[in-house]
Amino acid sequence: MIALGIEGTAHTLGVGIVTEEKVLANIFDMFKTEKGGIHPKEAAEHHAKLIKSLLKKALEEAEVSIEDIDVIAFSQGPGLGPCLRVVATAARALAIKYNKPIVGVNHCIAHVEVVKLVSDVKDPVGLYVSGGNTQVIALEGGRYRVFGETLDIGIGNALDMFAREVGLGFPGGPKIERLAKKGRKYIELPYAVKGMDLSFSGLLTEAVRKFKSGKYKIEDIAYSFQETAFAALVEVTERALAHTGKDEVVLVGGVAANNRLREMLSAMAEDRGARFYVPPYDLCRDNGAMIAYTGLLMYKAGIKFELKDTIVKQKFRTDEVEVTWT
Ligand code: AMP
Ligand code: MG
Repeated sequence: MIALGIEGTAHTLGVGIVTEEKVLANIFDMFKTEKGGIHPKEAAEHHAKLIKSLLKKALEEAEVSIEDIDVIAFSQGPGLGPCLRVVATAARALAIKYNKPIVGVNHCIAHVEVVKLVSDVKDPVGLYVSGGNTQVIALEGGRYRVFGETLDIGIGNALDMFAREVGLGFPGGPKIERLAKKGRKYIELPYAVKGMDLSFSGLLTEAVRKFKSGKYKIEDIAYSFQETAFAALVEVTERALAHTGKDEVVLVGGVAANNRLREMLSAMAEDRGARFYVPPYDLCRDNGAMIAYTGLLMYKAGIKFELKDTIVKQKFRTDEVEVTWT
């Protein structure tokens, strides 16, 4: 079976084509602004302008024609309304024109599900860290439950905002990672765990304040920012592991590129006798292949969408979806 997936919840437009066994194509184009940040309408215009050429490229790379596709999947949410609507419209148009079934996919779930396409991981606790999202999720009782999540901004967003405030430019994550490697001194910053949830705005404000005070080295602040924020992510993930009794941890989302976060999470997993896995970066970031793969699993499990079910869900919750396909 072959599925085509369109991703477009935020600044990345992606088209992926997959089978049950492998990725045939996974094409991207990211909408970028000078200063970072996203203008939802401009990002949506970007997606509308590029969707046709990305589709064409993906089909060429996969060496299949649109007629060969068994199901069209699209990112139904959560995300930015204007972007979601462009993607849903494109998916509906394809489904109608070529008389194909259509499936709407939850973006956060797809980030974790796609891990199963490229590894033998079966039932992990997922730490999903990106610009807009930060969630610890795992399957329990037929749904992906949210064991912890950010109460304010995503960790990627916190890193990007800090970088912008101190003049490092966008995207901030990689720049902070580079600086942090040279940091030697730990500076106390507000710890981000609240119950099982996380909060990064206090940490961000204090890190910026410390920078502006002129008393601290930027390398030390970057180092301390990472250590504090990542320790919080690891703590919540560890508690979810303990609670669920699962023995696999996966790290997904754009921030999964960070080597220090990988190192910390992997050490925790090792301590607990759990397996740790990070997919290749093109399957970590927002991408069409993860939407295609999750759509394929859903469709194979008999999930059917009428056109009226394809309405976009800006606040689509991870635990709204009944997972009947595993
Ligand atoms: P996404 O939202 O999934 O597209 O991922 C983009 C986010 O990942 C941005 O906030 C980046 O700053 C962040 N990011 C990318 N590379 C790194 C890195 N090496 N360390 C930390 N964050 C990163
Ligand atoms: Mg994402």
